[in-house]
Amino acid sequence: MADSLHTCYMAASDAWRTHFKGCQPCQIKQPCPTGAPLRERFTRLQNAYLNHLRNH
Ligand SMILES: [Zn+2]
Repeated sequence: MADSLHTCYMAASDAWRTHFKGCQPCQIKQPCPTGAPLRERFTRLQNAYLNHLRNH
């Protein structure tokens, strides 16, 4: 469970970072339509993962 959560978190983090690096709208103002769900997923999984760490 922890492993799969961590794997999802890492994958979401990679996807978001990779997109962010190559996307100007995401860097200078707000996430573009492609970047927004990537960032949302990353944020959600990051919170879930940090919560998980706190509770164990
Ligand atoms: Zn973008």
